[in-house]
Amino acid sequence: MEPQRSPLLEVRGNVELKRPLVKAPSRLPLPGTRFKRRPDQMEDALEPEKKRTRGLDTVTKMATSHPRAPALTARPQTQGQTTAPKVPKKTGPRCSTAIATVLKNQKPGPAVPAQKPAAAAPPLLGGKKPTKRPAWDLKGQLCDLNAQLQCFRERTQTLNQENQQLQDQLQEAQQQARALGAECRTLEGELARVQAQAEQSQQELGNLRAHVLELEEQLGTQEGLVQELQKEQLGLQEERRGLATRLEEQERRLQASEAALSGSQAEVASLRQEAAAQAAALVEQGERLHGLEMERRRLHNQLQELKGNIRVFCRVRPVLAGEPTPSPGFLLFPSGPGGPSDPPTRLSVSRSDDRRGTLSGAPAPTTRHDFSFDRVFPPGSGQDQVFEEIAMLVQSALDGYPVCIFAYGQTGSGKTFTMEGGPGGDPQVEGLIPRALRHLFSVAQELGGQGWTYSFVASYVEIYNETVRDLLATGTRKGQGGECEIRRAGPGSEELTVTNARYVPVSCEKEVEALLHVARQNRAVARTSQNERSSRSHSVFQLQISGEHAGRGLQCGAPLSLVDLAGSERLDPGLALGPGERERLRETQAINSSLSTLGLVIMALSNKESHVPYRNSKLTYLLQNSLGGSAKMLMFVNISPLEENVSESLNSLRFASKVNQCVIGTAQANRK
Ligand code: ADP
Ligand code: MG
Repeated sequence: MEPQRSPLLEVRGNVELKRPLVKAPSRLPLPGTRFKRRPDQMEDALEPEKKRTRGLDTVTKMATSHPRAPALTARPQTQGQTTAPKVPKKTGPRCSTAIATVLKNQKPGPAVPAQKPAAAAPPLLGGKKPTKRPAWDLKGQLCDLNAQLQCFRERTQTLNQENQQLQDQLQEAQQQARALGAECRTLEGELARVQAQAEQSQQELGNLRAHVLELEEQLGTQEGLVQELQKEQLGLQEERRGLATRLEEQERRLQASEAALSGSQAEVASLRQEAAAQAAALVEQGERLHGLEMERRRLHNQLQELKGNIRVFCRVRPVLAGEPTPSPGFLLFPSGPGGPSDPPTRLSVSRSDDRRGTLSGAPAPTTRHDFSFDRVFPPGSGQDQVFEEIAMLVQSALDGYPVCIFAYGQTGSGKTFTMEGGPGGDPQVEGLIPRALRHLFSVAQELGGQGWTYSFVASYVEIYNETVRDLLATGTRKGQGGECEIRRAGPGSEELTVTNARYVPVSCEKEVEALLHVARQNRAVARTSQNERSSRSHSVFQLQISGEHAGRGLQCGAPLSLVDLAGSERLDPGLALGPGERERLRETQAINSSLSTLGLVIMALSNKESHVPYRNSKLTYLLQNSLGGSAKMLMFVNISPLEENVSESLNSLRFASKVNQCVIGTAQANRK
């Protein structure tokens, strides 16, 4: 007989079935498992669980957390034919509720409450109702009751066992619940952490969005910038194309230039060769030129010597407006041996002897005085003609020979006119000094081409009554009587210098003109204090010439002196000697003394005397370096054309004739 199954057996069956459920692996996320969902997804995922949880009691909640519940409801197929409790259609909380209910019912008591339904219900052995014993069958009834009791006892025992099992299960479930609770808390913590993380992520997202917005804004700006740059790039590309075109053009030009350059270089090389050849030729020519120059100097000097180191030129000034015309034949200029074409060298002065004529009553006889000089300039001769003759001497000065040019004659005979020139600055009447200097500067420049460099230093002094005065003085010393003294430039030096006098370097005509202007002013100042002092003093213009040929180490230097002598007239012995005349006499004596000293010096030099009386006058002392052996001297004897001056004219001519007879030995160039 098949034992009748009670519902409790089904429960037991269920309880037995729970075992594998406990062992089933949890599908919940393990602690520490990372959610790879976004916060919103997390919320959605969690939502159904929450909903379910809210609607259930505590036990249900516990069950809910176990998705294994459906397994509790699974009954073994072998028990399917019994009246089993309703099988839940769905898995989830409902089936969990069933087992929860069973556990609930079993909890309060061990087996007593379980026996209640059994006591109430008839014994269900075999599933069939036992046949009712007759009332009299007490033994049978007792037997039945015993059997029944035995059955109940067995059943109680079984139930106790089951109860024990269920309690074990309960404990186990409680442990499991605790574990699940812990797991739940962990998960909640995890959830909170995840939520915090989500919030943080949300915040980060917000930040990122703001950042994205900012970046988008920046992107917009950058895009604008990019557009601008693109435009600029287009412009630059255009420019680059233009530049490339220009570059090509330049390169073409460069190539052409290079070609031209290489051509030019070849040309330069050939020109250099040519230049080198020419330089060599030039050096050779320079040598030749120098040789020729030296030869020229030698020949020039020889010529000057042949002409005489002392030369005398006679110049007769024209009759000035307002002056009496001299009688014809008073002054004659006989032609030279070569006829009228020859430059005149002779002068005849006819002088009537008035006293003899008066005594005899006959016409006064005339005495003819003939003079011969190196050159005679009749009244019509221009300044340029006069200069032509002395230009050669200027050349000698540049060649290193001292040159001294005097103007001798009575006052008013034209000395100053000859040396400095006429009034008004007319170039036609320019005197020897400006002409000589102009010539010097120009010849010096020409010689510069041959390697010579010249420098010139000018001085201009006046010697009055044996005192020296600077005519170039300026400022406070202008027009004052000088404290000037003639001294040697240094111990043992032959060079002379005038103390307190200005020595002015000159290099052009204008500078010389300025100096002559200063000298004229100084003389004009003096004229106001002392009547016609200028004609009673010697004016000495000196130019120290220094030449150097650096290439050949040659030097030459010599003074060029241009002297406007004081009037040579003598004092009329018949004149009464008043205070003015006495002064005049003293002046005249000083002048005569210095002029005669000049004559004596020239004589001594001519006679090669051992003692030359240079020191006898300031004039000869100052000029000693311009006279003597190596020097060249030229004396102009200026003659008045007037008959009234015939006596003085004859005196001058006689003095000049004496000088003209002198021959000073061979001149030596002052070469250093
Ligand atoms: P000195 O200096 O001998 O006293 P100047 O040179 O002063 O004489 O001349 C006296 C005057 O005669 C001046 O007015 C001057 O202009 C004039 N004179 C001199 N020589 C000439 C000449 N060759 N031609 C024209 N005028 C002259
Ligand atoms: Mg004069």
